Amino acid sequence: MAAVAGCGGGSAGGGAVPSTARAGASAATDRSGPRPPAAPAALAVPAVLPGPARAEEETSGEAVARRAEAARAALETARRWGLARLPLPAPQPPAGRPELRAAQGVKLADGLPPVVYRVPTEQPIVFLTVDDGAEKDPEFSRMAAELGIPLSTFVADYLARSDYGYFRGLAGQGDAVNNHTINHRNLKVLDYATQRDEICRQQDQLEGQIGSRPRLFRPPYGEYNEDTLRAAGSCGIEAVPLWNEEAFPDRMEYRYEDQRLHPGDIILTHFRGTDLWPGTMPDLLRKVVDEVTAQGFALARLDDYL
Ligand SMILES: [Zn+2]
Repeated sequence: MAAVAGCGGGSAGGGAVPSTARAGASAATDRSGPRPPAAPAALAVPAVLPGPARAEEETSGEAVARRAEAARAALETARRWGLARLPLPAPQPPAGRPELRAAQGVKLADGLPPVVYRVPTEQPIVFLTVDDGAEKDPEFSRMAAELGIPLSTFVADYLARSDYGYFRGLAGQGDAVNNHTINHRNLKVLDYATQRDEICRQQDQLEGQIGSRPRLFRPPYGEYNEDTLRAAGSCGIEAVPLWNEEAFPDRMEYRYEDQRLHPGDIILTHFRGTDLWPGTMPDLLRKVVDEVTAQGFALARLDDYL
């Protein structure tokens, strides 16, 4: 993947959060690493911001006041976390998961779980996935919850086991906790039985620790072969999401040359702290959300679509 600094230059997205309001929150959270990109010239913030209430517009004075209050609160939350723009609201998820069809970014094979880099959709949505589990930052889970950003996590037991309570907390706020094996080995070089042990034992572990058996599995390093898919299917895995973008606290890396998000793209990032990359987990989430919003996308919940 090509590394590209800076963010996409799209102009779509919610109203900009006035930069004066960002200073305090940024100073409190940006401990190291490069500054986030400067906010675009401040746009007027509409009195009533777009939000999930749009579907059934109520026009009574009370309803309008309620929406205005919700919008004010959303703006305040975005300011507090130092966002350049209000995140765009995700559309209502489909009633049932859509059947996966052959498309660019989808590899289907009979009897095996599909491998998916991009979920087929025309909607302006992308998905944030967070891997491994080393850094268990309560500020990160709080920020995601307060901003309404849904996460799909892929957890390796050897990193998560020191505090599964953190991941139970994520599950409790509606985020998904999925399988990323026990020991995070390169599965491609292992025989079928060992691969199956790495995947199925983590299914059992997560079922015990989190309370539900994952449907999604991501192989470490994105490395897999047919044995991997067969093994995963045999322990209840329904799909294998990979990714088209990787996010860091200071940049996004894109798989394709146009260096932009596309509807349905899956974004990879990691639970990492300042010992491993230039920023905190909140810095990382701020970078992702601002970039996604600037390109006109909303973050939706992968597990609702796959
Ligand atoms: Zn990993």
